[in-house]
Amino acid sequence: MRSILFNAGPAALPEAVLHQAAQAMIDIPGEGQSIAEISHRSRFFENVLDEFKQLFRNLLHIPESHDILIVQGGARLQFALIPLNFLPANKTAAFIDSGYWAHTAMEYASFGNQTECIASSKTQYYRQLPDFDPKKINKQLHAYLYLCSNNTIYGTQYHTFPQVDIPLIIDMSSDILSKPINFTHIDLAFACAQKNIGPAGFSVVIVKKSFLETAQTQLAPALSYKHQAAKHSNDVTNPIIAIYTALLNLRHLHDTGGVAAAQERNSQKAHSLYTELDRNSLFNAPVNPTDRSQMNVCFFAKQEQHHQAFLTYCQTQNIKGIQGHIQAGGFRASLYNAVTQEMVNELIAALRDFEKEHA
Ligand code: PMP
Repeated sequence: MRSILFNAGPAALPEAVLHQAAQAMIDIPGEGQSIAEISHRSRFFENVLDEFKQLFRNLLHIPESHDILIVQGGARLQFALIPLNFLPANKTAAFIDSGYWAHTAMEYASFGNQTECIASSKTQYYRQLPDFDPKKINKQLHAYLYLCSNNTIYGTQYHTFPQVDIPLIIDMSSDILSKPINFTHIDLAFACAQKNIGPAGFSVVIVKKSFLETAQTQLAPALSYKHQAAKHSNDVTNPIIAIYTALLNLRHLHDTGGVAAAQERNSQKAHSLYTELDRNSLFNAPVNPTDRSQMNVCFFAKQEQHHQAFLTYCQTQNIKGIQGHIQAGGFRASLYNAVTQEMVNELIAALRDFEKEHA
């Protein structure tokens, strides 16, 4: 029996996608070989990459002004590659510190580079988005502004992005494909695959072509976004199983109404869970209501002894993945695209039953 999965990433994938991926592991229909065996230089995989990029573009209405790159490695590799590609020695990268991942990205950029934290909500335990004053941006000094759209660990999310007159770079690892995004004013967005895209092993980088033109050229090819774009994302040997499974997942998203329909389902799921948490006498969801994430719902037991007791109760209900991140404590239910309203209803029922027994 499949568990009811609220994992933060690697995260739940639709069962139909897993069945198709399982079939391809033995024999890709019409190819006579497994997806684990096929060459990254094959026509088949070239077509996978082309269809992936086209579908990704269509699903998110990404304008032709932007390139879509599929690159080896996860989000932290992009934390390191972004300054290598876009931060010249005489400039500083400006960061909004909204939580662990934004802060870690700043630490990565700080190796050999100038960085400046221009807003932080650390003293509010990251339970709200930082107050950002655009006047802190200095066009002469700052190469770009970096922020993280969805704070996977503490459960905050940008519902609109700040407007700035320097390049804007956004880590969208944990909310890409969950809602429509206007990419017009975004110079670079990236996301590791292991939440809404597919299995872990690669990242997607969406970069404005005019911004890519400004990238450093004195870089080894595997580190250069310009090189990856010139090679149509098929130079290094890509993680083929993960990318193919992600393509199956994109097709599934397309067939179930696309990103706008996903957003409607995601809003409903998050609304139902927050409503229960705000009502339930034993739990609380401390994130500032206007900044609450629709992807990662963080909550706590009001009484210490209920923490382990609720985890144990969830295990008996076949509910998995709700332990909070070690940095934040408490609980976290990740409601990515593949998590259905029915799964959320099971968690709500568990919260109610637990309250009846322990209140
Ligand atoms: N950014 C965000 C928003 C994340 O949630 C995560 C965790 N998956 C990362 C970065 C780090 O991802 P990776 O493990 O792929 O480096």
